[in-house]
Amino acid sequence: MRLLWLSALTCNGNAHSLLNYPNLRNWQKDFEWLYHPLLPSRYTFKEIEEGIEGCEVLIVEGTFSEELVKYRQPFKALVERYGAQARHIVTVGTCAAFGGIFAQGEEGRSGLFFRGEEPTETFEALRSKSINLPGCPIQPEVLVGTLALLKAGETLPLDRLRRPKYYYAYTVHNGCTRNEYFEYKIDEHRFGSLEGCMFYEHGCQGTFTHGSCNKILWNGLNSKTRNGQPCMGCTEPDFPRMGLWTTQKHMGIPARLPVGVPRRAYLSLAGIAKAFRIERFYKPLMEEE
Ligand code: SF4
Ligand code: SF4
Repeated sequence: MRLLWLSALTCNGNAHSLLNYPNLRNWQKDFEWLYHPLLPSRYTFKEIEEGIEGCEVLIVEGTFSEELVKYRQPFKALVERYGAQARHIVTVGTCAAFGGIFAQGEEGRSGLFFRGEEPTETFEALRSKSINLPGCPIQPEVLVGTLALLKAGETLPLDRLRRPKYYYAYTVHNGCTRNEYFEYKIDEHRFGSLEGCMFYEHGCQGTFTHGSCNKILWNGLNSKTRNGQPCMGCTEPDFPRMGLWTTQKHMGIPARLPVGVPRRAYLSLAGIAKAFRIERFYKPLMEEE
């Protein structure tokens, strides 16, 4: 399968994240890079700019701007040319999917097909080919897995933001090792400790962020929340949100609740959980006798 990677306004974090895939060399045997900014490719960017044929999957990283001229061409024209050739258009990273950091406070900047949650019109004719893989950066396994499924001819079920459900139907909360503390409403978090949930005081967004970070571990080892850092919600269309590291509250209740949990249900469950004080949760488990 022939792949072409175009970079818009970007820090190149997603291109680098792909290099971290442990089996990259073997995986690549099934694919051909027409162009990638870091990996050996069949064409130079000059040739891409002049026009080539045969792009099957167009991969776009970075925030889109109508004014962006990349190399000597309007970026929009490159997307139109190669998007028309491709069977699939895959956005990698939250900037390409929804606008992300480079669209903050800037008029005329967006993701390729969305600005936040709102669909944009620029590439409307290509929308049906699009697959969004947000993340800041993307987990390499998500990109590698998606491309492998496309190569196998699979139809990927997508959510309303065109994210593959295989990777984004779950929340980051799913699989977090701190769930027991969440259930009993205990935020005794200290950096470096393995105990305590970070939802109640420390701004963890894992319960309303869609992603596989606690199911497919980073580097096969760890995740932010397992390691003791709150999830910042980097796969969501409103990333980056303000007020990281602190839980925003109204009348003492977290302003954002877990996906699909009504306020009344949350209050009832929280009341029950708080009625019990289970001592073992209030000191490091290694100190338990
Ligand atoms: S730290 Fe975050 S992801 Fe982990 S259990 Fe608490 S809310 Fe969920
Ligand atoms: S844990 Fe949250 S902030 Fe970190 S990479 Fe995953 S979705 Fe993004």
